Amino acid sequence: MKFTEYPIESLMYITNRPEIVFTHGKGSWIYDNEGKRYLDFIQGWAVNSLGHCNEGMIEALEKQARTLINPSPAFYNEPMAKLAGLLTQHSCFDKVFFANSGAEANEGAIKLARKWGRKHKDGAYEIITFDHSFHGRTLATMSASGKPGWDTIYAPQVPGFPKADLNDIASVEKLITKKTVAVMLEPVQGEGGVIPATREFMQQLRALTKQHNLLLIVDEVQSGCGRAGTLFAYELSGIEPDVMTLGKGIGGGVPLAALLAKADVQVFEAGDQGGTYNGNPLMTAVGYSVISQLTAPGFLEGVRARGEYLRAQLLALSEERGFLGERGEGLLRALLLGKDVGNQIVEKARQMQPDGLLLNAARPNLLRFMPALNVTNEEIDQMMSMLRSILDSL
Ligand SMILES: *Cc1c(COP(=O)(O)O)cnc(C)c1O
Repeated sequence: MKFTEYPIESLMYITNRPEIVFTHGKGSWIYDNEGKRYLDFIQGWAVNSLGHCNEGMIEALEKQARTLINPSPAFYNEPMAKLAGLLTQHSCFDKVFFANSGAEANEGAIKLARKWGRKHKDGAYEIITFDHSFHGRTLATMSASGKPGWDTIYAPQVPGFPKADLNDIASVEKLITKKTVAVMLEPVQGEGGVIPATREFMQQLRALTKQHNLLLIVDEVQSGCGRAGTLFAYELSGIEPDVMTLGKGIGGGVPLAALLAKADVQVFEAGDQGGTYNGNPLMTAVGYSVISQLTAPGFLEGVRARGEYLRAQLLALSEERGFLGERGEGLLRALLLGKDVGNQIVEKARQMQPDGLLLNAARPNLLRFMPALNVTNEEIDQMMSMLRSILDSL
């Protein structure tokens, strides 16, 4: 179908989108309405952890759709229990609440921390977050985020989110008062431009929060579920947080998110937390397939190897073209261009013929790479050669 034949004008305007309609995908490739294919290094925004239309996910979705779609959130169901069990087995956490989006999982983490503060810390409610962080698009998670401009766009903000600087422990210490209940951070800032918290900083934060009896909350919506080369990015620094949120990759493309907590932090009482779709079997069955595949023997080793391979390729390109290097963890990486040509490269990459390439510029001076975790080295080579030809044409 031609682009103009779709009733696009009925959609609410929220952002500029190119004049193409995506119709189908497989693995690292996605196809548009004209039949053109694109090598996909965005993957639904670091969401399709197993690429497009993964067979295991399809099987789980089809089977569950024929079995039970929704018994209501007031009852247990089998996939919700099985996925919770898998997540606690493979993490340091004991309790799981399922939600539908990363923002909603983070709202849950904020509520849990505030309730814990009410119960154990004399009503303390402030959560220290970080400049350039991203925690979602609800009012509270926008207030928690350190994205420039978000403090005024829907003012007034939800109060209680003082901002510190990532990798600067003194900036956190300075903000701690009697009102502080928690520190919340992304182990790798994703939207902020793929900036990893250092191992040392994570360890300092854990020590500082213990010392002041504060909760440490990791927002692993982007860094979690294998993206950083370990199942969860907090593992990289050898610490154990009190609370973690997951989203994006946990559903492999379907709307699923989770809030995880240590047993002694779980203070919700009946009626404190909920949501119509929480733990619905259709999505949790898919999540179970995803996490089972990520934790299968050898899979995460493979992610680390491919992450290293991508890292080496990006470094070589950076040296070749005089860029400023690269950074990231696992298969969440950024190439530092040194000038604001990111958006121009993204446009050219998509428009390339005969095949296009989907990339993202999380900031104008860098490119972010978030391929499927099962991307092949050949696909990485293909992406690199497409990128080189775009750079040649600039
Ligand atoms: C994407 C993202 C969110 C928000 O998730 P949604 O599913 O869009 O609500 C929150 N935190 C981080 C770190 C993210 O990358």
